[in-house]
Amino acid sequence: MGAGYPESLSMVRGFAQAVAANREYLTQLDAEIGDADHGINMDRGMSAVVPKVEALTDHDISGLFRTVAMTLISTVGGASGPLYGTVFLQLASSLKGRSEVGLGEWAEAVSAAVAAVQSRGKAQPGDKTMVDALLPAAEALQAAQAEGVPFSEGLARATKAAHGGMEATIPLVARRGRASYLGERSAGHQDPGATSSWLLMEAAEAAFAKGK
Ligand code: ADP
Ligand code: MG
Repeated sequence: MGAGYPESLSMVRGFAQAVAANREYLTQLDAEIGDADHGINMDRGMSAVVPKVEALTDHDISGLFRTVAMTLISTVGGASGPLYGTVFLQLASSLKGRSEVGLGEWAEAVSAAVAAVQSRGKAQPGDKTMVDALLPAAEALQAAQAEGVPFSEGLARATKAAHGGMEATIPLVARRGRASYLGERSAGHQDPGATSSWLLMEAAEAAFAKGK
């Protein structure tokens, strides 16, 4: 009961497709409070990831996420490269040795990934960053696990929580990343990284919910 390697690979492909489809949208959001490159950065990274993961012959979930991490770190110049690299590196280490991922493992892995991002980027909740989408998603997964709901239901709640967290960045004043240079003027705009993090949770939901 859970997601195996095929579903994990499908999650990575799905995230790459979502980033490509939303490249202009993410870039436009970054144009409002940053330097207009978030969609370009993420698409460059995930476009490099796809051929790398398709070529993997050792079908190991941890190794898959490690490859995603290393490729993002080496191909994305912006803040989002090392930060998403941290997300996938932590997913890889949390899921080491596992051939299947269920709600409990995914809740632990996503929680550890958010903690790693916070440790690396020093963003607190409410600082108007990707943490504001990832943390509610991690909390929703933990709550779903505690309640014993089906994996698919936990995944759906995580996507919803990430979406709510993303929308909640709109009125916030940025305290980390380039948007923080704008101070109060960053309020009234949705954070680009929180938006791509919602896409990541959506990709996980779409791919993992099939692996039951
Ligand atoms: P850059 O800011 O270098 O141009 P991107 O535009 O690709 O990089 O990514 C910007 C996004 O990165 C922001 O919208 C924010 O969500 C995220 N971000 C920036 N700095 C941090 C940080 N210190 N912690 C968490 N997320 C951050
Ligand atoms: Mg940028």
